[in-house]
Amino acid sequence: MSPINHALTGWLLANTASHISMRERAYITLAAVIADIDGLGVVAELLTAHTENPLLWWSTYHHVLAHNLLFGSILALLTLWITRQKLIALLVFCAFHSHLLEDLISGRHQDQLWGISYLYPFSKQQWLWHGQWELNAWPNMLFAVFCISLTLYLAWKRAYSPLALFSKKMDRHFIDALHQRFGVPKA
Ligand SMILES: [Zn+2]
Repeated sequence: MSPINHALTGWLLANTASHISMRERAYITLAAVIADIDGLGVVAELLTAHTENPLLWWSTYHHVLAHNLLFGSILALLTLWITRQKLIALLVFCAFHSHLLEDLISGRHQDQLWGISYLYPFSKQQWLWHGQWELNAWPNMLFAVFCISLTLYLAWKRAYSPLALFSKKMDRHFIDALHQRFGVPKA
């Protein structure tokens, strides 16, 4: 799925409990997108594509290095160490796995299926689902509409949105606009 869908899934998971702080919501949302950090090799691969020794870092390592149980477990343990809260660590672990699941069911690009090397580096066996949707298939669009709608509803209801992860001022303006348009929710 697109990074937007991954991020919104993380944001929605970060809103499953009301006492979670904005910083903790940021950790959970980040956990839902960070696996794609292993795609950064695309820069080296493009830059060296026409050289004698091209670096195939994207082709070799994307969906491998950070799309696995070990990486997710390290994230969860790091979160537990920083926040001292099992619930936040658990939600980080779930958000990370939501990314793997979304890639597994919906990451196809034309004829190229994406597999997940879940037990890497201990095993290179890939998990693959042959019914995998294309990245721009309608179920992905529908899922995006669902996530955006729920995010907007929660923003209206709880008076904060994902914009608060970047700027409190921007978030305030956005929430004011929502409340002006749709009214202030009853307490
Ligand atoms: Zn991914």
